[in-house]
Amino acid sequence: MNGYTGKLLHVDLSNHKTWVEDLNLDFAREYIGGSGLAARYLDERIDHQTDPLGSENTLIFMTGPLVGTAMPSAGRYSVCALSPLTGIWGEANSGGFFGPELRFSGYDGIFITGKAEKPTWLSIVEGKVQLHDASGLIGCDTYETQRRVRQMLGDERTRVACIGVAGEKLVKTAAVINDHGRAAARTGMGAVMGAKNLKAIAVRGSAAVQLANAAMFRETVKQIAHRLNDDLAAQAMKLAGTAGYVNMGLMYGDMPIRYFQQGEWEPAENLSGVLMVEQYQNRNTACFRCPIACGRETRAPSYQLEKVDGPEYETVAALGSLLMIDNLETVIMANHLCNLYGMDTISVGCTIALACELSERGILSPADTDGMEIRYGDAETLLRLVEKTARREGFGDVLAEGSASLAERFGVPDLAATVKRLEVPMHDPRAFSGMAAIYALSPRGACHMQGDIYGVDTGQGLAPELGILPGERFDSSQEKGRLAALSQAWRSLYNALILCQFQNPGVDLVLQALNAATGWDYTVEELIPIGKRIVTQKRRINLRRGITRKDDSLPKILLQPLEGGTEGNVPNLEEMLTAAYQEFGWDAQSGIPLL
Ligand code: SF4
Repeated sequence: MNGYTGKLLHVDLSNHKTWVEDLNLDFAREYIGGSGLAARYLDERIDHQTDPLGSENTLIFMTGPLVGTAMPSAGRYSVCALSPLTGIWGEANSGGFFGPELRFSGYDGIFITGKAEKPTWLSIVEGKVQLHDASGLIGCDTYETQRRVRQMLGDERTRVACIGVAGEKLVKTAAVINDHGRAAARTGMGAVMGAKNLKAIAVRGSAAVQLANAAMFRETVKQIAHRLNDDLAAQAMKLAGTAGYVNMGLMYGDMPIRYFQQGEWEPAENLSGVLMVEQYQNRNTACFRCPIACGRETRAPSYQLEKVDGPEYETVAALGSLLMIDNLETVIMANHLCNLYGMDTISVGCTIALACELSERGILSPADTDGMEIRYGDAETLLRLVEKTARREGFGDVLAEGSASLAERFGVPDLAATVKRLEVPMHDPRAFSGMAAIYALSPRGACHMQGDIYGVDTGQGLAPELGILPGERFDSSQEKGRLAALSQAWRSLYNALILCQFQNPGVDLVLQALNAATGWDYTVEELIPIGKRIVTQKRRINLRRGITRKDDSLPKILLQPLEGGTEGNVPNLEEMLTAAYQEFGWDAQSGIPLL
């Protein structure tokens, strides 16, 4: 089977059973892979009553047709299920080497149902599947878990995806971690894994991914490598990591400060990726076959850290400027804790920032927080709260439920910076109005990986053949709403392939790679409809879970004008939404898919 192994592994943890299902090729052709294909499969397995932390929720690990091939920057995998944080469609994806190794072990994806009686880990080695007792791994951090699992299998080349203490404790913002500190972080997929009593999945194999036209695929890869030399964004990322965006983000007012309420803060420049390179970086790191190598290995001498995975832009903002922390070493430490415990840095940073805001407004007092004074800019408080969240210790048990729950608990739901209960990532929609529509429409809640207008409006990741062209950044017109829909469709296709969104060789080469791998004959005109089909599929799941048009909204806190780089801009969401609905083929008023 070209571009796919053609096999999906099922694991029923309640009954200690595993079996293999043939990949449904019709589904694959329509939804490609990754979160697109996972959504198609999940749709049949859940209903409006399914408990995200119940044994009936299906946790899906899915790859795509380019994963594990020579395609640059295509070494990713998706983790999807109903989210315990939001109650709706949940998805996260991660780089590293786990995705390709899963394919080499013989499978395109894994479906996990049920709940193991006792802690369990799963191994898939050269197609052979085994369930093991994980009692001895409980309480281990994610790095130790990976190390021990590799040791138990006696093969250092084994790739491990696992949860840390946060996943074990069902922290709603828990992540799945692989390849040291690579995280499938968003929407609490680590808690779903924890609820199933599944501590880790280890994969190892030597099967090759079969390609329909190997010669054309090789030629495509060569052309992509050639074009990368002219891709300035990718070159900048190689030099300074994603945190290289800090200065530009500050200039545009895109990098959130003081829980999204301050437009400028000069000390945030101390968080820049260039400074990180100069003062705290050991080396670049890369995912499977990625020439960009945006990853960082860093050190933080003040915290006795010599060699840890470094924070990327989202983390630098969420654990830095959002909390009025301008010390990179503190951010490196907080990021490392999140990796060890297995938590989403965006959601954790946002929730702690909300706690700072509630304290400042006198809504939260030390009586609520185990006697702690919670303040912006306090490194010690940040690190303690990260640990308390992961362990659900005292006030950490409240933070472990996420921002929406925290705001509701203290009677101020409007202060939650969430969309559909997922914390807003670190691109302010007041800086790029189109991001307002992206966040409101994103099926998993506020998400910058389902449309990157902040990049498009600054000339990055363009796709002129698909109508994805830069515009005026404060524009909130219907035209911008249509652009948001197209951008979301295009990135949803990326998340199906699964291709890293920092690899932008052009529509022609992405299409050529897909066709050369699978032997299909897609045309440029068919790409956006595939993306729209995927977004619509996820929306159907959400509609069944009770989502309505009123949920396609932005938190009030993001609709206050700010001074600084955003120049007082407030996006007109309604105008953009109506046009985006129409572009997707949904009812313009209700947002319900018409077909
Ligand atoms: S650009 Fe960065 S995140 Fe993307 S595949 Fe390469 S190393 Fe991984």
